Amino acid sequence: MFLLRTVFAAVLCCLPALAQAPPPVLMISIDGLRPDAITQAEAHHLQVPNLRRFVEQGTYADGVIGVVPTLTYPSHTTLVTGVTPAVHGILSNTTFDPLFQNQVGWFWYASQQKAETLWQAARQRGITTANLNWPVTVDAPGIDFNMPEYWRASTPDDLLLLDALARPLGLQQQLEHELGPWVDGNTLTIASDATRTRFAKAMLRQHHPGFLTVHLSSLDEEEHTSSPFSAKSNETLEAIDGMIGQLVDAAVAINPKAIIVVVSDHGFARTDFHTNLFGPLLRAGLLTVGPPGPLGTPSFSSWKATLWPAGGCAAVMLHDPADTASRDAILGLLHDLAADPANGIDAILNKEQLGQLGGFPGAEALVVLRPPFQLGYTFSGPIVTPAPATGMHGYLPSNPEMRSSFFVLGKGIAPHRDLGLINMLQVAPSIAELLSAKLPAATAKPIKLLQEAAF
Ligand SMILES: [Zn+2]
Repeated sequence: MFLLRTVFAAVLCCLPALAQAPPPVLMISIDGLRPDAITQAEAHHLQVPNLRRFVEQGTYADGVIGVVPTLTYPSHTTLVTGVTPAVHGILSNTTFDPLFQNQVGWFWYASQQKAETLWQAARQRGITTANLNWPVTVDAPGIDFNMPEYWRASTPDDLLLLDALARPLGLQQQLEHELGPWVDGNTLTIASDATRTRFAKAMLRQHHPGFLTVHLSSLDEEEHTSSPFSAKSNETLEAIDGMIGQLVDAAVAINPKAIIVVVSDHGFARTDFHTNLFGPLLRAGLLTVGPPGPLGTPSFSSWKATLWPAGGCAAVMLHDPADTASRDAILGLLHDLAADPANGIDAILNKEQLGQLGGFPGAEALVVLRPPFQLGYTFSGPIVTPAPATGMHGYLPSNPEMRSSFFVLGKGIAPHRDLGLINMLQVAPSIAELLSAKLPAATAKPIKLLQEAAF
């Protein structure tokens, strides 16, 4: 018996590294975080010591080149699938709603998403998975402990709906019992991110997930309101930096081998003008105005050709694909507007160019603005109206300001390793490799993050 035990122990200690449990991975998204806010923190007058640790003691990208459109929901889905929006199906933030009838409904539901996710891949590997507030996770398969991002009216009633959407049922109430009320996905304050941080720490403590995703969203909101690197945006990021410090400490306290990955979904550009493109469409008879919605919101009663807005860009959509007259009318109108630089139109991509970029399948074209212009929604009056000191994203991923973030810290992660520019499609397969999980549809080359000596 003694001999048998000795032999068994000897076999165990000589098992190849891959047979060991992979390190737990905590993946935090700071919505709208520009990488230079951390890599060049001093130049931007930012005090972010916890995120600077990722640069000094970890591995990081100078920038992540994103997808089309550079918006929150398509990008977050690419971050967990490794495929383009054309493949995963989350084409914009809001679903296509040409008559404005859906009360600004977003792509909230996992059933709208077609690709395998990191949660599913990790679950297949036997890893416990958890999520707090990641986009497109309502009833997402493969997540053991799931509190999805969702809202409707952002009133306290939303918490009742969120409670019903949490998995397993009762999870939200159980955490609220200890921590106080949870927060809906459209409450975008520093305090709401502090709540998400408290819940994430409790999730780590109570359920020990091997893969936990967390989405913090207040920075994006402030950047939209007062522009990136405004005093208020910097204050918000400095507050989030403190939350990152808490999350790193909590993850490492539970398992010293924990790997923490901080990502973002897109960059940000300052904007000072709105380009109002719906007015010309109305005047050309491509849209007809309907009665105002229940909250006085505008609506259309019919459409032949319209725009599917996506921040700094908009997809050109045709009601009847055979209606060449309306196609010629909308494209002619947009090209005429683009000819005047004062309208802020950067490019009009055709179907073939869109196909190569993996965005908006089914669209006739994509009209892309250039900062400092963002899409406006005034139907009458001038094409361009002032909107000083605001911010937007959704511009082409080739715009350096649209680059997003990738920072990794933990045992076995090379210190002070600069990856240069990477592609967003590489993020999910790289995380899959950390988890020793497989994500076959994600074909981009993974970044080898873990050094062999870690095992
Ligand atoms: Zn975002």
